[in-house]
Amino acid sequence: MKSTFKNVSHIVVTAVLFVAALQLAAQTPNLDRPRVYDVKNYVIRVSFDREKRLVYGDTTVELTPINSELSSLELDAVDLNFTSVRLDGASKDLLFTSSNGRVNVKLDRPYTPGEVAAIRFKYTIRDPKKGIYFIAPSGPKDKLRHPAQIWTQNEPEDARYWFPSFDFPSDKATSEEFITAPKGDLAIGNGRLVESKLNRDGTTLYHFKMDVPHSTYLTSFVVGDFAKLTAKHNDVPLAFYAYKDREKVAGTAFSRTKEMMANYESLTGIPFPFAKYDQIMVSGFTEFEGMENVTATTLADNDILFAEYPFGKLIVEDLVSHELAHSWFGDMVTCRNWSELWLNEGFATFMEAVTREKLYGRENYLQKLSEDRDEYFIGEAMAKTHHALRNLTAKGDNSLFDATTYQKGGLVLHMLRETVGDANFWKAVNIYLTRHKYDTVTSADLQQAMEEASGQNLQWFFDQWVYAPGYPKLEVGQIYDENSHQLKVTIDQVQKEDGGVPSAYRLPLEVTFTTPSGSVNHLLNITQRSETFSIDASAKPTKLEVDKNEKVPLKSVKIK
Ligand SMILES: [Zn+2]
Repeated sequence: MKSTFKNVSHIVVTAVLFVAALQLAAQTPNLDRPRVYDVKNYVIRVSFDREKRLVYGDTTVELTPINSELSSLELDAVDLNFTSVRLDGASKDLLFTSSNGRVNVKLDRPYTPGEVAAIRFKYTIRDPKKGIYFIAPSGPKDKLRHPAQIWTQNEPEDARYWFPSFDFPSDKATSEEFITAPKGDLAIGNGRLVESKLNRDGTTLYHFKMDVPHSTYLTSFVVGDFAKLTAKHNDVPLAFYAYKDREKVAGTAFSRTKEMMANYESLTGIPFPFAKYDQIMVSGFTEFEGMENVTATTLADNDILFAEYPFGKLIVEDLVSHELAHSWFGDMVTCRNWSELWLNEGFATFMEAVTREKLYGRENYLQKLSEDRDEYFIGEAMAKTHHALRNLTAKGDNSLFDATTYQKGGLVLHMLRETVGDANFWKAVNIYLTRHKYDTVTSADLQQAMEEASGQNLQWFFDQWVYAPGYPKLEVGQIYDENSHQLKVTIDQVQKEDGGVPSAYRLPLEVTFTTPSGSVNHLLNITQRSETFSIDASAKPTKLEVDKNEKVPLKSVKIK
């Protein structure tokens, strides 16, 4: 997902005030959700009465007990009006109750681990509050003409508003969708299109199949009257769905998708991991810019239209590269619980910069990192609470999508790359992705892959950057001694130590000083809260620069 706060600004932060309470670094809570069954497959059938804003749902959940016999079970289900709950193919209803966002089903008999129970739920959803969105066609006063649409948005926990599910990222399942599109509309779902069939009443039935497991928050569909542009990357079909009078701008917005895909494949060593990649522009997607629904990314139409203007080119490319990166980081390997969301969003944000590096060079990559740093500083200054990258305060709502998880996450991955070196970094990414393919991940999994590839112990790195909140604030002092020709450089770390913020960061800090005879770089390995280094210098420096190559962009520096 990409948040709209991305576009707020590239304001330079001169003062960052921390006034809010900081989280308490107490013992680590377990933010996994206990499971007694494993969902294997969802078969979701939906049709619509657009005028009444009514959804007819019909979902089969195929699941198996994990450790012990199961004779009743609970699934997440909010505002679903059940008309029948049966074993698939049976004619008799199972006993069920529905309340407080859950449906509780009593099975016909106990099921043992390995046995599959297929439970079919039929229900209606009237005027859905979340999950499914009915968008009216544009009126005569609307600037941007758009067709009527129906689309979904689940992340983090809104799948339960349109199909009964274990709605948490840890339980991955395959899925199948049967979507009945109203007359004149087409439907886009997850995975391969098995078939589409015109019904007698003018509606069209679309059947999609996702045969690799994925989390429920990635299940989606879009229904509407769109133009379809197509392309191909190796064997992967690409499609871009745009409003019928906007094909040109959509073509511009999506034009570099193939190039980005090839770059990600070559860096990660993992071919695009799904059967297709669709990108669809939709209206009314205002809270976010884009959502990486598996094989079918949804994008806000307003953002796509930026492609019409020179200033908007990078904004659109960042958005396209961000959502595409999620195919590897988020969709293929997925955060195990919401405290690990930075593994999705930090990587997707970092890959925006990596794409810029490929398309425009190192300077543009570094420029992106400094923009991300400014956004993180703004986010930290405005945040009421502060959390580490592994977010122990994570709740399954939109508060998850903040500048720590996105921008700090991306910057920390850059620093990891600088710490282990480029070749080791991408080798580790390959290990991490290969080992956990179509599964879920934690920060510890990333650490292990990075340590294996680099041969370094990275506990210190993860402790200070991933498991602790905050960032270093440096004050740099300098005194030149004319007699001994020594420059004394003092680095003070002045960040407040409360809330688990490290008292002293370990920082490889490059300083560059310029004298009439030229510029010299020195690498200072900082480990203490206050340290002084003596450096030989033939004359008093006229200029002192700190970390000009942005090896540690996540810091503030004041030169005294
Ligand atoms: Zn994202």
